[in-house]
Amino acid sequence: MELRVLSLYPEQMNIYADRGNIVFLQRRCEWRGIDFSHAGAGPGEPVDPTAHDLFYIGGGQDRDQRMVAKDMVASKREALADATGDGAVLLAVCGGYQLLGHSYQLDEEKLPGLGLAELETVREPGPRLIGNVAIEVDLGSGPRILAGFENHGGRTYLGEGAVALGTVIEGKGNNGRDGREGVRHDNLIGTYLHGPLLPKNAWLADHLIALALERRYGTRPELEPLDDAFEDAAHASARAAAGA
Ligand code: GLN
Repeated sequence: MELRVLSLYPEQMNIYADRGNIVFLQRRCEWRGIDFSHAGAGPGEPVDPTAHDLFYIGGGQDRDQRMVAKDMVASKREALADATGDGAVLLAVCGGYQLLGHSYQLDEEKLPGLGLAELETVREPGPRLIGNVAIEVDLGSGPRILAGFENHGGRTYLGEGAVALGTVIEGKGNNGRDGREGVRHDNLIGTYLHGPLLPKNAWLADHLIALALERRYGTRPELEPLDDAFEDAAHASARAAAGA
């Protein structure tokens, strides 16, 4: 088996250890004898919706998002809609998460989004939402905790019928008001938890790997357990930092 990952705009949308999330996926595959391939698609580059099973968009500053938003809609929207409509996994973090929605309103300017999730983001007056965060998530195998760090000026509002990734236990979440964090739709996940999201939450990494392999090979594999002593410690520490 091979996990095929495509990073979208790896040069532009890459802050707070986004690359580390990819390395973590790679290691967890290699440790289990699963092949791993990773490619990037930058400005203007087309995406083949069948060539990859896990798509990743990292975080970015407002100026990075300005550089990619229109290009992403023009050169990648259709392929990403096809891929996610066909079971591919899409993980979008922070600035990437904001661009999954319909738009990101920045002062006078409205950046277009992919429109793959029913949400909108607005840069409202007020402080950035920064800090450690813990959310409760159920991706089908019972409630689990995701712990991480958030740092965003944009506030995200889910539209009618949109499902949050989780509920905030500690931290701010989508907008600091409604207790919801992230979004999820089929195998698409958007979240404000960045930094080393996957190393701090190895269970999520394995969940994404299994979903992506299921898309390619037709059945969801039982992933061999790994020695997660370091990962468990990282998770415990992130939870403790959030006070959860
Ligand atoms: N630029 C966005 C904001 O501040 C996202 C930031 C990020 O990816 N950390 O809201």
